[in-house]
Amino acid sequence: MRYVSTRGGAAPRGFEDILLAGLAEDGGLFMPETWPRLSTSDWRALRGLPYSVLAARLIHPFTGGALSLEKLEALTSQAYAGFDHPAVAPLVQLDSRLFALELFHGPTLAFKDMALQLLGLLFDHVLEKRGERITIVGATSGDTGSAAIEACRDRAAIDIVILHPEGRTSEVQRRQMTTVLSPNVANLAVQGSFDDCQDLVKAMFADIPFRTEVRLAAVNSINWVRIAAQIPYYAYAALALGAPDRPVAFSVPTGNFGNVMAAWAARAMGLPIARLIVGSNRNDILTRFLAGNDMSMRPVEPSLSPSMDIQVSSNFERLLFELLGRDAATTAEAMRRFRSEGRMPVPEAAWQAARGLFDGFALDDAGTLAEIKTLWRRGGYLADPHTAVGTAAARALAPADHGIPVVVAATAHPAKFPDAVAEATGERPPLPAGLADLYERPERFNVLPNELAGIEAFVRAHARRNIA
Ligand SMILES: *Cc1c(COP(=O)(O)O)cnc(C)c1O
Repeated sequence: MRYVSTRGGAAPRGFEDILLAGLAEDGGLFMPETWPRLSTSDWRALRGLPYSVLAARLIHPFTGGALSLEKLEALTSQAYAGFDHPAVAPLVQLDSRLFALELFHGPTLAFKDMALQLLGLLFDHVLEKRGERITIVGATSGDTGSAAIEACRDRAAIDIVILHPEGRTSEVQRRQMTTVLSPNVANLAVQGSFDDCQDLVKAMFADIPFRTEVRLAAVNSINWVRIAAQIPYYAYAALALGAPDRPVAFSVPTGNFGNVMAAWAARAMGLPIARLIVGSNRNDILTRFLAGNDMSMRPVEPSLSPSMDIQVSSNFERLLFELLGRDAATTAEAMRRFRSEGRMPVPEAAWQAARGLFDGFALDDAGTLAEIKTLWRRGGYLADPHTAVGTAAARALAPADHGIPVVVAATAHPAKFPDAVAEATGERPPLPAGLADLYERPERFNVLPNELAGIEAFVRAHARRNIA
C-alpha cells in the first residue's frame, strides 16, 4: 500500500513515512493509492469481534506490511484497554431506528481519543524501530491539547510540550492536561492569548536549526492514519445492526470533516452505507455547499459546540479529490482558489456526486438546547451539544426507507459540556469515575512570558533531559 498526495506533487510514499510526515510536501493530503475492498462474506466474518480485534483487521491493509497483524492487534488492544466501557464504542438505542454510537469512552471524553490513542503507540513503534525520537509541540485553547497529551504520555520515543494561554482555558480543560505527571509531558502556561501560543508554535517550526535540533513534530489533524483509525467504529456499528445484509446511514457532527471522511472510506471498502448526514452548528459552510454548491468562507462564530466552530474543513480536500475522479491538478487548483478568493469552485458533476451520498443539516444554539432537552425528556439520554446536532440532523433527514437504521456519532461525553447540558435539562452530568478526582489531583505546569527565546530554551531542556 502506497500513498499519493491529493495535489499530485509528491512521490508516492509508504505507511511509515506518511505516519510521520502528516502533510505532503506539496501541501496536499495523503490518500491510499487504492481502496482495500472486502467481499460480503469477508464482512460477515467480522461480525461479533471485540472492538480492538476488528480495528486491527480493518486498519492492517493500510499499513502495507509495515507491521504484522499480530503486532497491530497488540497495539489496538493496548490503545483501547483504558477505555471505560468494555465495548469501547457502545451502541445505544434512542428511538425505533435511531442509535447513538458512543465514541467518548476514552481518557479525554471525546472521539479524538479513538484515533489518537492508537496514533501515539504507532508513532512510538515506528520511531523505536528506526532509533529516532521526536518532540511534539502544539498550542491549544482547550481540548486538542489534552487528547494529544494522553496519546503521547509515557511513550519512550516522544517528548511533548503543549502551550496554553495562562488563565484562559476552563479549569477542567487545564486540569486534563496539567495533572498528567509523566516525565515526557510538559505544559506551558503562556502569558498571552491562544493566538500568541499558535504564533509561538509556528515560529518554532519556522526556526529550522531549532526544529532540526529537537526533531519537532506535530500530531496533525490531517494525518491519514487518524482517518484510518476511525474507520473501524463505523464497521462495528453497521455489523451490529445487520450489515453487510442491511444498509445503514450515519449522522456525523462535523468540523474538519475527518470523522465523516472515515465513514466515506468505510463505504469505499465495501460497507453498505446508504447515506451520510453532515451536521453543523451556525458555522454551516458544509450545509451551504451541499444545498447550493456554495463553499465560501465566513468568519467563525462561537457556538455551544466549539469543536465544530470552523471556517474551512481541512479534510474536505480528500473528498473533493475522490469526487473529481482523483484529478490532482483540478483539486490543487480548487484549493488554491479557495485560499485566494475565499470560495471553492466545485464542478457541477462533483457537487451532484456529493449530493448523491451526503445530506447537510445546520442547527443553531437554541435548536441544540431544544434537542438536548428532547433527548432527555423522551428517553432519559444526556447528550452533549455536538451529539445533539447529530441526532437532530438524523431525525430531520433519516432516509425514507424505514429499514435503514440511522447511527449518530456521539462525539463527546455530556460531562465535557456540563453548562449547556444543565441549561437544557436541569441535570449536571457528573464526570465518569476515572476522572471524578480531577479537582484533587496535583498539577504541574510552568508559566512563561510570551517570548520565543525562553520558550525554545524550555523545549530544548525538556527534550534533552529525556534523551540523557
Ligand atoms: C473534533 C470534534 C468534532 C469534529 O470532528 P471532525 O473530524 O473535525 O469533523 C465533533 N465533535 C467533537 C466533540 C469533537 O471533538
